[in-house]
Amino acid sequence: MTKKSTSLAIISNNSFEATKVVNLNHYDISSALQTTLEFNKLIPIFSSKIESMIPHSAFVYTNAEFELEIKSGVFTRHSCSYALKVEEQQLGELKFMRNRKFDDAEIKLLETLLCCLIYPLKNATLYHQALKMAYTDPLTQTNNRTYFNDSVKREMSLAVRHNKSLAIIFLDIDHFKTINDQYGHEGGDITLTAAAKWIKESLRCSDVVFRYGGEEFVILLSNTDLAGAGLLAERIRNTIELHTLAYDMATIKITASLGVGALRDNDTVDTFIKRADEAMYKAKKSGRNQVMLAN
Ligand code: GH3
Ligand code: MG
Ligand code: MG
Repeated sequence: MTKKSTSLAIISNNSFEATKVVNLNHYDISSALQTTLEFNKLIPIFSSKIESMIPHSAFVYTNAEFELEIKSGVFTRHSCSYALKVEEQQLGELKFMRNRKFDDAEIKLLETLLCCLIYPLKNATLYHQALKMAYTDPLTQTNNRTYFNDSVKREMSLAVRHNKSLAIIFLDIDHFKTINDQYGHEGGDITLTAAAKWIKESLRCSDVVFRYGGEEFVILLSNTDLAGAGLLAERIRNTIELHTLAYDMATIKITASLGVGALRDNDTVDTFIKRADEAMYKAKKSGRNQVMLAN
């Protein structure tokens, strides 16, 4: 039968004293956990450090805030799981598994040892929240230009190293200035936010959208060639054209022009970006509301 603990590993002021004692007793675990702020390192370190005291065949860590699932080992019948939380901060859920029951003494010890994990997990959470904020455009909640600059370099070197294709789409909303003129800056902001949502809805989960500038978005598509990216760009264009936004007593409709490029041998970041950007300008010149592939 599965042993499932519903108790929360909450550190209150009282148990914080206990944590200090725990940290002294388990200095080895605590100091190992202090070496990283990465969830995908913290959890395996914790698992391996407690293995001799609480043998287990697998662990699963999930964190909804960062859409994380970290798991390792052989999934077996018995489990104990903890929703981790400190000072109203959710820290994810951790589950251990094995093929014989966890007894009460082990559960008690595990709960004590979990105190060593709580603050390193909190630090990791704060670090990743700060990173997320630094990389997110506050208006549209898409990735920002800073993140694009990092991502494009990383994706290009990954594509070259693994001999995979990589494509890029530049998207610029047509006559956006008139939206601001007609509906005010607030109407423009709401339209931009909606456009970002429509773009995201048209994408696959491996595709990443960035706000490149004012009313301009970029989409990076790994494992995608020029033709595939062209089809996706057409889907985005069509989605945007079909939507109608209700604002005040008015309805707003927009269109977008898109340029598509694919990574070539000897491309630099600049040449890769430039081809798609130039294709987008060609789409503008050819009448807007269309997709143009880089040649
Ligand atoms: P085109 O079809 O040639 O792209 O015409 P356009 O009017 O979209 O292009 P233009 O570059 O002339 O104008 C872009 C406008 O986008 C001007 C700027 O005020 C507006 N804009 C940029 N960032 C924001 C923003 O964050 N919020 C709002 N409301 N408007 C913005
Ligand atoms: Mg523009
Ligand atoms: Mg524009």
